[in-house]
Amino acid sequence: MRNSIEKTPDTQLSQFRVRGEIPVPVLINWLTIFAVPLLVFFAWRSDSHSHDPNTPAFLLVFAVLLGTNGLIYRIGGSKTLQRRGFITVITLLFTYLATHAVEDGSAILWLFAYPPIVFYISQSRVGVTACAGGLTGVIVLFSPLGDLIFETPYTTSFRLSMIIALAFEMMTCYILDQSRRRSKLGLLRLAADFEHAAKHDALTGLANRREGLEQLEGEQERYSRNKRPFSVLLMDIDLFKQVNDTYGHHVGDKLIILVARILREQCRKVDTIARWGGEEYLVLLPETGEQAATRIANRVRLAIAASAITQEETRIQATISVGVATIHGGESIDRLLQRADEALYAAKKQGRNRVCSYNKTECVA
Ligand code: GH3
Ligand code: MG
Ligand code: MG
Repeated sequence: MRNSIEKTPDTQLSQFRVRGEIPVPVLINWLTIFAVPLLVFFAWRSDSHSHDPNTPAFLLVFAVLLGTNGLIYRIGGSKTLQRRGFITVITLLFTYLATHAVEDGSAILWLFAYPPIVFYISQSRVGVTACAGGLTGVIVLFSPLGDLIFETPYTTSFRLSMIIALAFEMMTCYILDQSRRRSKLGLLRLAADFEHAAKHDALTGLANRREGLEQLEGEQERYSRNKRPFSVLLMDIDLFKQVNDTYGHHVGDKLIILVARILREQCRKVDTIARWGGEEYLVLLPETGEQAATRIANRVRLAIAASAITQEETRIQATISVGVATIHGGESIDRLLQRADEALYAAKKQGRNRVCSYNKTECVA
């Protein structure tokens, strides 16, 4: 199936990227590329700027973990694994920086990098949970309980400002993230609507001629691979001009819509129904031979002949003529359509309200 934004439900639309949006794996790669040398640099420096002698070793371990995560992604290519691995490592890293007061306690400021990264690379729900957990962790760290466990050098005013500023940043990130996601969804919905309009007929909602041709080309490709022939039905409403002339154009439109509805009811999901022209329709029947196609065409013909629209208590009925052609050999789409058109012409000539297939002289009526 072609990757069509138009056919994607709203709930899955966000998986599509809009132009200019940095892909999450690319962002994680770049963050890793920057973070690894930075960690090595701070590991080298922190000998003299940390009260924990194990800090250089810990920072190097985090650099190795980040690098390994990047490498695993390069080899395996799993985006989910890359994202989860990255979030886990940076969460542990930031926790370590805060609880061990690295760089004389100033490394805790790196916590401000956490909310925007988490919101960008993961779903909103994950971002909220991670930030709530992070803020709770900081509050516990700054509480008397945290002092008992970690003995950090942070002053009271620093603790107060840090908690308020971090909470403020997290809220701002959440609001911006929601707004970004909503704008993206709006753009994608707009693109999906445009795609739908480009492929469909506004009056009936059926595929338009261009989309019909595209489906025909796709079907021909499939046929050249699996050699299972497909058929086309070219249909035309009989004496339609009389309907327009007698009842008006708007009644003619209603009849066109009625025929489209019956076609939808009578055809399979895999079939393509296109409005080919004014009161002409084309039905593409994949993997259907001539006999079956003629049977389907006749069923549709009878269903249309049996239905009607009502206009000011007058029943207005329509009949259709159908030309059937089935692809064979290395035939082109143009030639196939030409044969269907000739069969349709034969149906009209033999009195209308009948189905003619190109290879048979007898029509079904
Ligand atoms: P035949 O049985 O030979 O097909 O006769 P016909 O009257 O159906 O054929 P003709 O081609 O002479 O007339 C088709 C008419 O369809 C002419 C055109 O005005 C009308 N038509 C084309 N598109 C539309 C449309 O969207 N709405 C309406 N109401 N009429 C349309
Ligand atoms: Mg016509
Ligand atoms: Mg007609």
